[in-house]
Formats: sequence, structure tokens, C-alpha cells
Amino acid sequence: MNLYAPSPGAAARALVLGGGVVGLSTAWELARRGHPVTLADPDPGGGASFAAAGMLAPVSEFHYQEQDLLQLTLVSAAAYPGFVRDLAAAGGTDPAYRRTPTMVVGLDSADRAALADLAAAQRANGLEVEHLGTREARRREPLLSPGLTSAQVAPGDHQIDPRAMVASLRAALAALPHVRTVAATAVELLHTDPADPERVTGAELRCAELRSAERVEADETVLAAGLGASAVAGLPAGLDLRLRPVHGDILRLRVPERLRPLVQHTVRGLVHGRPVYLVPREDGTVVIGATQREDSAPGPSAGGVYELLRDAQALVPAVAELELVEVTSRARPGTPDNAPLLGRCRRADGSDVPGLVIATGFFRHGVLLSPAAARICADLVEQGPLELDPHEQSPRELGSLDLAPFRPDRFSRPVLQPARPTPARSTL
Ligand SMILES: Cc1cc2nc3c(=O)[nH]c(=O)nc-3n(C[C@H](O)[C@H](O)[C@H](O)COP(=O)(O)OP(=O)(O)OC[C@H]3O[C@@H](n4cnc5c(N)ncnc54)[C@H](O)[C@@H]3O)c2cc1C
Repeated sequence: MNLYAPSPGAAARALVLGGGVVGLSTAWELARRGHPVTLADPDPGGGASFAAAGMLAPVSEFHYQEQDLLQLTLVSAAAYPGFVRDLAAAGGTDPAYRRTPTMVVGLDSADRAALADLAAAQRANGLEVEHLGTREARRREPLLSPGLTSAQVAPGDHQIDPRAMVASLRAALAALPHVRTVAATAVELLHTDPADPERVTGAELRCAELRSAERVEADETVLAAGLGASAVAGLPAGLDLRLRPVHGDILRLRVPERLRPLVQHTVRGLVHGRPVYLVPREDGTVVIGATQREDSAPGPSAGGVYELLRDAQALVPAVAELELVEVTSRARPGTPDNAPLLGRCRRADGSDVPGLVIATGFFRHGVLLSPAAARICADLVEQGPLELDPHEQSPRELGSLDLAPFRPDRFSRPVLQPARPTPARSTL
């Protein structure tokens, strides 16, 4: 039975460009609300989502002066249990969401001091962090190094396996008759409305493998192409997404039977000031990550891999006895303030550019933020663009959360110029 049949009249034809965790979650949210959806991606799940550790960690990922982002991460973490329950039912596969608590440990006295300061800031922001002490930490995790100086627990920081999540989302989408997925790259946004050349009316897609192109018309286009978003032509002129790649190396290792479970918490640590984490999976593997490199080398860095193994071993010496099964490197879509680019763009008269919602720049938090991003994008699609000066209207909100800090045009020139109309052409 199809539970999510589109309701005629109310449904908007949606086109989602990009099938990482954010685009797939958004496509599924739109589809389950009854909207016909086309999803385009040449390699769904193959971007940053392929590398991600899947920590859902608003507390231990808290950074000073990122209060707006913190609120968004908390909203999304709270949405996770319902999101994955519905997804497992719809897709028929387990998205591998686990309530593994997170232990945060420090190696030397400077690490202990830094983590104590962080815990004070976390508590000042109402976040739950429990002091543990190293003896209790080793009682809970016997394979931790005896040399640690401090330990805390963030009980509400959990995890999901992003590859299982992608598989589940793809299965859920494949089960819906009003969803079409196209293995193609969006090269240009369409502007075919003669009455409003700024309106986005779909996109031109190209499939390199088949050497074919297709124009897909849509009422609303969601640009969720991660780092690829700024390469799509036809964005509102003057829009500066200011995305930058922040490369990350990450390792997957198999734990021999005699050492299982290596750890039962996600273990995050500071090792002489360097962060490292170990995320245990139920299949007996462990994920160790991750470097943050702003060089231009897209492949794994030998030095980065060495540092990850050395620092993880300083926290859990038995890491030396694991089988290294995978070294992966991908780039996170970073923004100047580390917050996503999420929402509609404003045009010269203060109204929203119609037909376009942007969802990119999720940097270190895209997996965590996917349920909230999906809901925000679907709400924006259903509400349509604001037609008047937004200053005269109530702000866009998700519950009590103000979405203004995430506007995708916040790094752009104050006034966006009209987009160039797309020349008329028949479907290729
Ligand atoms: C090493 C590492 C560890 C991480 N760990 C975590 C973690 O523990 N927790 C967490 O929350 N986040 C984590 N992240 C961050 C997270 O992976 C990203 O924020 C998230 O994957 C972003 O999702 P996305 O869908 O926006 O982008 P992506 O996953 O990059 O997907 C973008 C998609 O768009 C497609 N695309 C690109 N251009 C076009 C185009 N023109 N047309 C159509 N499709 C296009 C690509 O093929 C790709 O599939 C980690 C990232 C890295 C690199």
C-alpha cells in the first residue's frame, strides 16, 4: 500500500539536486508528505556522506560562539528517533541508529584543562555532561589507556551509520511511485517563466555516462549538492555561497573476536591538543577519525593516517592489534561561520527568489542535521516564497528556532541582481 500518495492540487513538483544524506532526507520528507519528487545525483551517497563517522553529537561537538548552530543541532538530534523509526518502516532496512553514549577523555594535563573548560561552557549552555574520573572510565571501558588524565560522558550524543542511512533512504524512495531518481548532474538552473525571469523553474541535468541531457521542470528546486552547489549555473546573480572543501581522512578497522567489544562508548579524546575519535559499530568494526585539512589534496594523507592511528592508540592501546580495512578521504562542505546555508535567497525587492531552496554547507554536522534540514526544506517548499519585505513579516522558524542565521545569502552582496533568463529550448 502506498501511504504517501500525492494529494492532487496541494502537491508541488519538487526537484532535489544532490543525493547525499541531506538531499536524500529532503527528497524522502517531501515524498512522504505527498509531493512528486525528482532526485538527481550522478553518485548518490558518494560525497562527504560516504566518509562520515555518523556521530550525532550536539554536546561534544559544541564550539564556543556557535550558539545558533547548537540550537539547530539540538533540534535535529531530538528529531532523530522519530526520523529513523519512520525511515526503517518505510525503507525496510535498518538505518543503524544506535544510542551509544559518548565518552570524552584527555591524555595530558593540558588536555584535561581544555576539556574542563569545555565542560563548563557546555553546562553553561544547558548541555548534559557528567564528570567521570579515570577510574570509573576504565571500569566502563577496560581497554582505555591507564595514562588518561580526565574523562566525562555526554549521554545524549549518539550515532548512526551514514552508509546504512543512505541505503535506507534510497530504499524508502524507491518504494514510492511518485519519486523518480536520475543518475545525472545538474549543470544549470532553469529560468523559463517569462513573467518572472528570477524564478527558478527546474534544472538541466546531464548524464556523462549516457551522453544525454534532460530538462526537468519543477515548482520548487532544492539545491542540496554539497560542495557541488556553487558550480551549478543559473544561481541568483550575486549569490556568494562561499563554500570551501575541508578534507577529512577517516579509517575503518575490524576488531578481532578476542578484543570485542573494543569500546562500547563512542570515545572522543584530546591527545596533546589533537582531537581523535573511535566510533564502535555493531558489526565488530570501529571508525577512527578524522583529520581536518584545508590543503588541496583530495586523496588520503599518509601523515594524517599516521596521526590518527598514533593518537587513537594513545587512548586505546589495543588499536595496534586491529585490522585496517579502509582508508577514506572526502571533503566537508565548509562555510565561514561553520553553519549551514539553508533556506531561500532574498532578491532586490526584499522578497524571496521563487522556486529555489538551498541546503548545503553542512560542514561537520550534515548527518546530525539531516532530519532538521529535511523538515525545513519541506516546510519552505510548502509555504512558498515570502512575497513581501521579510522585515515586515514574522521570521521563518522551525518551532521556536529562528532560521535567519542560516540564510544562504548571508555572505552575499546586500542586493542580489536579477538572474539571466534561460533561452527557450525543447527537452533534450
Ligand atoms: C571524514 C568526515 C567525517 C564526518 N563525520 C561526521 C559525523 O560524525 N557526523 C556528522 O553529522 N557529519 C559528519 N561529517 C560531515 C558530513 O559528512 C557532511 O556534513 C554531510 O555528508 C553533508 O551532506 P550533503 O548531503 O550536504 O553533502 P554530500 O554528502 O557531499 O552529498 C552531496 C551530493 O551532491 C552530489 N552532487 C554534487 N554536485 C551535483 C550536481 N551538480 N548535481 C547533482 N548532484 C550533485 C554529489 O554526487 C553528492 O552525492 C563528516 C565528514 C567527513 C568528511
